[in-house]
Amino acid sequence: MSAWFISDLHLDPACPAGLDALRHCLDAIAGDGGPLHILGDLFEMWIGDDDDDPFTDACCAVLAAFARQQPLLALHGNRDFLADAGFCARTGATLLPEPSVILLPSGRPALVMHGDSLCTDDAEYQHVRKQLRSAGWQRDVLARPLAERRALGAAMRAQSRAANANRAAAITDVNEAEVTRVAAEHGVDLVIHGHTHRPATHRRHAGTPVTRIVLGDWTPDGMVLRAADHGRFELRRSDTL
Ligand code: MN
Repeated sequence: MSAWFISDLHLDPACPAGLDALRHCLDAIAGDGGPLHILGDLFEMWIGDDDDDPFTDACCAVLAAFARQQPLLALHGNRDFLADAGFCARTGATLLPEPSVILLPSGRPALVMHGDSLCTDDAEYQHVRKQLRSAGWQRDVLARPLAERRALGAAMRAQSRAANANRAAAITDVNEAEVTRVAAEHGVDLVIHGHTHRPATHRRHAGTPVTRIVLGDWTPDGMVLRAADHGRFELRRSDTL
């Protein structure tokens, strides 16, 4: 039995192939029995648990079928942080607090998180993040009609794209000192996250006390991390599973 990790699928009605890629991935790991962790940004935009879009429905149904066989755990990303109890009911997923320390099948603890909170060099982003994660903002947004939330989400996406186009690549990557700090705070030497769309395994070495595994985004196929019971990690493309 292994533990599995994916993130940043950005499932979007405008790209139905994303659902096929997800279905292929779930089929490939079904039967293993191990938990699948989705480390945020499963959806390009989650405008509330009451979203009645047929594509969203289809995605939830595929996940729910998987969750009847194997544990399904999810963290909020910066696109789907409005997912709540209704999301869990629709997908069969259990929401983990972000960040969370989990025990891998090998017994090694790992800190799992979406990764956007590690990008501390991007002060502007962190400022917006704080606002969007506030209970007041979320209450206000969720009180609006679905159509209005959909339009707001699209406007925010466009704004974020424009802002990122003007940011240096280094700014939108994680801050290594913050990684070290957060890992130490949770007493682990292994961090698994997504968000930056820069899949890699950064191994612990002298001067860098933390091994950091970064998942990749899906376009529409993506990266799947397998943590096997003997302690090995395998980060591979979903279409090769
Ligand atoms: Mn993200």
